[in-house]
Amino acid sequence: MTATLLTPKSDDQAPVTPPALPPTPGTSVEVVPGVRWIRMPLPIALDHINLWAIEDGDGWTLVDTGINCPDSMAIWDRIATHDLAGRPVKRLIVTHMHADHAGLAGWLANRFACPLWMADAEYADAQVMVSGNRDRRQVRDFYHRAGWQATEIERYFRRRAVLGSYYCPLPQRYNRMADGDHFLINGRHWRVIAGGGHSAEHACLHCPDLDIFISGDVVLPKISSNVSVEPEAPEADPLGQWFATLDRIRADVPDSVMVLPSHGRCFRGLHDRIATLEHDQREVLARLATALDAPTRPDALFDILFSRPISRTDISLMTLATGETLALLNHLAARGLVARRDGADGVSRFQRIVPECEACCP
Ligand SMILES: [Zn+2]
Repeated sequence: MTATLLTPKSDDQAPVTPPALPPTPGTSVEVVPGVRWIRMPLPIALDHINLWAIEDGDGWTLVDTGINCPDSMAIWDRIATHDLAGRPVKRLIVTHMHADHAGLAGWLANRFACPLWMADAEYADAQVMVSGNRDRRQVRDFYHRAGWQATEIERYFRRRAVLGSYYCPLPQRYNRMADGDHFLINGRHWRVIAGGGHSAEHACLHCPDLDIFISGDVVLPKISSNVSVEPEAPEADPLGQWFATLDRIRADVPDSVMVLPSHGRCFRGLHDRIATLEHDQREVLARLATALDAPTRPDALFDILFSRPISRTDISLMTLATGETLALLNHLAARGLVARRDGADGVSRFQRIVPECEACCP
C-alpha cells in the first residue's frame, strides 16, 4: 500500500506549474484543482503565512490557521463565505505549535465545529505557550548560561507574554496525528511525515495522487528553517533531528512534487532545495568549529554565524540567534567535536576538542 502511494506521478501527466504570483494577503488562489492557497498577513517581521484549504467531499479540510487577532478572524470569515463557498469545514490539521500555524486553532475549531488534528508533542508545546506555564528559573538559567544580561532576560519574559497572546485557547479535545498516518481527503491519501528539528513533531503532508507536498516550515524556498535549542531541553540536538527529517523527506517524497511551503511561494525542485539547505548548514558548522580555538561564550559567536548584526535590544532577534547558536554548538558537542564548560560566572564556554595526536605533534 505504501509503495503504491509513493509512486510518482506518471510521465504522461503534465506537471502543474505553481501559480506565478501568490494570492494577495487575505485572499486565496487555486494551486491545483481542489487545493486553495490562502495567504494570511502577520503583524511580525515575517509578514505572511500560507494556509491551505483542501476540498473534502461537500466541504473542506484546512491546514494551519494564522495568529489570534481580529484581522485574521475577519479574513477567515470572508474566505469561508466567498472562497470556500460557505461549505462546511470538516477537519483542521495543524502542522506544528508555532503561533502563526496554531494561534487560531481553538477559534477555528469552534467557528466551524470541526475536529482538530495535531501531533501530541505539538499540542503539548502549544498548550505551554497558551498557558504561559514555564519554569521561570529554568528559563533564566538557560539564557544566563548563554551570556545574557539580567535586563535582557526580563525583556524576554515580557516578549513571551506578547507571544502568548497570539494564541487563543486550544480545544480541550484533539485527534492525535503521528508520523506515517494517512488522511483520506476527497478520496485521495495524504501521508503524514512528522519529524523534529524546527519543532518537536512537525507534520508535513504528502499527497502522491496530486503530487503535492505541504512542507510547513521544514522546507522553505528562500530562507532556512529556524532550528533552535529551547530552555526546556538545553542539551538537545535539534539540528541532528532536522538533518534526519530532511533525510526522511528526501527518501519518501519524490522530487516531482510541487512544494507548498508555509512562507514564500510554491515551488518545484524539492531535492535540490534540501541539498542546498543541508550544504549551507554544514558550511556554518565547519566555520563555527574552526572558530572555537579558545573557550568562547555563545553570545560572542553571533558575528561569526549571522550575516546581519544581532542587536541586543531586539529581544526576538536575540532569542532566535541564541537558540540557533546553541543548536549548532550542541550538534558539534553531540559529535564529540566541542566541549562545554560552565564558568564561575555561570556562563557556558565552548571549545573545539583537539584530537590527541594533533595536540602533541606540532
Ligand atoms: Zn514554525
